[in-house]
Amino acid sequence: AKHSSPGQCRYYRPEMNVRGSELLALETDLHRALEREEFVLYYQPQLDVTTGQITAVEALIRWQHPNRGLVSPRDFIPLLEQTGLIEEVGKWGLNTACRQAKAWHSQGYPIRMAVNCSARQFQQHFLDIVHQILQKQSLDPAYLELEVTESVVMQDTQSATYILQRLKEMGVTLAIDDFGTGYSSLAYLKRFPIHSLKIDCSFVRDVTKNEEDAAIAETILLLGNSLGLEVVAEGVETEAQMRFFQDRHCHRIQGYWIGRPMPAKDLFPLITGRNNP
Ligand code: C2E
Ligand code: CA
Ligand code: CA
Ligand code: CA
Repeated sequence: AKHSSPGQCRYYRPEMNVRGSELLALETDLHRALEREEFVLYYQPQLDVTTGQITAVEALIRWQHPNRGLVSPRDFIPLLEQTGLIEEVGKWGLNTACRQAKAWHSQGYPIRMAVNCSARQFQQHFLDIVHQILQKQSLDPAYLELEVTESVVMQDTQSATYILQRLKEMGVTLAIDDFGTGYSSLAYLKRFPIHSLKIDCSFVRDVTKNEEDAAIAETILLLGNSLGLEVVAEGVETEAQMRFFQDRHCHRIQGYWIGRPMPAKDLFPLITGRNNP
């Protein structure tokens, strides 16, 4: 059946049917995956509407399982979170993404790198991890954008406020992922140092056909603009959706219409502008 829950862009999901002994096997596999270097980062381009260039990418993790093939993060991120392995894998992902961003910068392409961050990672020692990685890769912090969902910042608002403030002082920028799908008040928008809002794909899917979705998308754009935040539309799959957001001066557009998540080498022609959409 075609369905899409908030914060979930994939409509047709081949379920892995993970249960019982399989779950245990998968967990064992996950422990080995890091040392065997089975995780890879794919990068999805974001189009800057004003310049027409690819100026940012989102890093999305994949697991190249020896027998299962390419496993979707939706099938293993929850397991990584439950087992606590997310801290280790998250650190690896952050380092890999920053190294890639630095490589592009050195080639003359100052690409902004968005990295997802889950609740379990969002602890005080995360600040040291981010700091160390930025130093190690000598990446300008302004080019790192951390994506967190509303629930991550709302879980423990005092601790979140502290972490977000320190990140801001470091020069790292913050995006609210799946904006509008969480159960939170808008009050946090003025308390937290936020740089951008990502309109969730569940509002984008029918934005050209459904008045409510269009109204929600437009309201988020207005809200973002009046608060001085950048707005990113995600899950843009068609030319009509793309035009909707272009016409309304959305800052960045991400989705299959621009490009799917892909390995760094495949993305390179897009960022050099030799193959722009
Ligand atoms: P997300 O952060 O909301 O990422 C967007 C998801 O939408 C990605 O799924 C992306 O491939 C997909 N997508 C992008 N454009 C389109 C489109 O036009 N149409 C449709 N239908 N889908 C689109 P993906 O890569 O499977 O990632 C799923 C989720 O896994 C992410 O959702 C994020 O929550 C999580 N995730 C991925 N990588 C990481 C990571 O390194 N760390 C953490 N903590 N979570 C990650
Ligand atoms: Ca999501
Ligand atoms: Ca994201
Ligand atoms: Ca999202």
